[in-house]
Amino acid sequence: MAHAEAATKFNKNEAKVNWHDKALWFVRQKRDRQAHKIQGWEHLRDYASALKANVLSNLDTYLIQFEENAKKNGINVHWAANAEEHNKIVHGILQKHNAKKIVKSKSMLTEECHLNPYLEANDIEVIDTDLGERIVQLAKESPSHIVLPAIHKTKEEVDELFQEHLGTQPSGGNPEYLTREARKHLRNKFLKADAAITGVNFAVADTGGFVVCTNEGNADMGAHLANVHIACMGMEKLIPQEKHLGVFLRLLARSATGQPITTYSSYFNKPEEGKEMHIVIVDNGRTEQLSREDFRRSLHCIRCGACMNTCPIYRRSGGHSYDATIPGPIGSILSPGKDLTKHSSLPFASTLCGSCSDVCPVKINIHEQLYKWRQIIVKDVPQPFVKKTVMKAAGSVLAKPKTYDFVGKTARFMLKNTPKSIINSKVNTWGHARDLPEVKGDNFEEWYKKRQKNE
Ligand code: SF4
Repeated sequence: MAHAEAATKFNKNEAKVNWHDKALWFVRQKRDRQAHKIQGWEHLRDYASALKANVLSNLDTYLIQFEENAKKNGINVHWAANAEEHNKIVHGILQKHNAKKIVKSKSMLTEECHLNPYLEANDIEVIDTDLGERIVQLAKESPSHIVLPAIHKTKEEVDELFQEHLGTQPSGGNPEYLTREARKHLRNKFLKADAAITGVNFAVADTGGFVVCTNEGNADMGAHLANVHIACMGMEKLIPQEKHLGVFLRLLARSATGQPITTYSSYFNKPEEGKEMHIVIVDNGRTEQLSREDFRRSLHCIRCGACMNTCPIYRRSGGHSYDATIPGPIGSILSPGKDLTKHSSLPFASTLCGSCSDVCPVKINIHEQLYKWRQIIVKDVPQPFVKKTVMKAAGSVLAKPKTYDFVGKTARFMLKNTPKSIINSKVNTWGHARDLPEVKGDNFEEWYKKRQKNE
């Protein structure tokens, strides 16, 4: 389903759309307040962007350096060319330990690789331990936001879900009660887990260690209790040196949730005695994206979600309408690289206002890349007949000033004299939710000439 059609579904519940919009804007405002508290915020963004550009230009060197250092520390390093290989590697490690119960903290990479269904099909229980992720897992849905996976759910909906799956009492959506119950439920899973899977926020080339950020401490709890820790990372997650963590951690927390620092930023360097630590480094289309000059900067992304929180389209269409692991503006750049036909509507799900690029902590030129994809898509993907015809007609009108004047005059006349029921008919999707402004008699040129005469 194209983005616009899926968004229409989400838009049916106007109260929910308004609440979703407001909730995300609240996070955007928190981000602004925290960003403005730091002197040299723009300098930090520039620095982070330059560091990421350096990593991408020297990825081969940094990856090898990271692998060597990680191995020295006793971490097992695995390489996966694609999602299938990633899933097989993880499964192989679990099989070796006869691990049947897994706890997993938030990892967009494992979502991208569809690890949960793969392991479940192999009789392995996977429990997502991030509260938002657990909510969507119980609802059999995918995350709708990369930082706030259950942002599309109201607390009343969560209440009902917990009653059904965790046997809780009706609480009218009391967040404290629901969180306490989730905590009890998850604690039990942590204690029984055979292995823990986490994502990776930053992998440090000069130490071979990696950092995992959570606000709930769930990654740490899982990794410390289980005997086996598997960390899954996209190969672009590298940063050159330990000292650069200060740059990225400051940017990430403020951009993601408007916090000065994420509650738990845990630096894993080696396995505890008697335990095993694995890291799976995954390509899955990243090398291809790197080879696309216009889009390689999308690999700077540190998955903060700020571009989603600020995007007027995302806020009012919801993450699921993107039908992609990473929704929102950055997802609309990454997804067409994986399947251009399937995701061809996504770069059009933007006003190109540039707000996403303005907030991006690593200065990705998001709206420019969306515009680039549009240019490729109209050439390479068959467009709907109506759209093609209208665009062609608009192109020829806009190219000739006289035709433009004539069409403008006719349109003004028609709009003034046609009943609203026809103008806002079913064919006009714009008219479903809004009225056109009152049409003036003159165009700007006519108005200007009259004004000059009267002066
Ligand atoms: S593109 Fe930028 S703003 Fe969007 S999630 Fe990535 S780092 Fe954050």
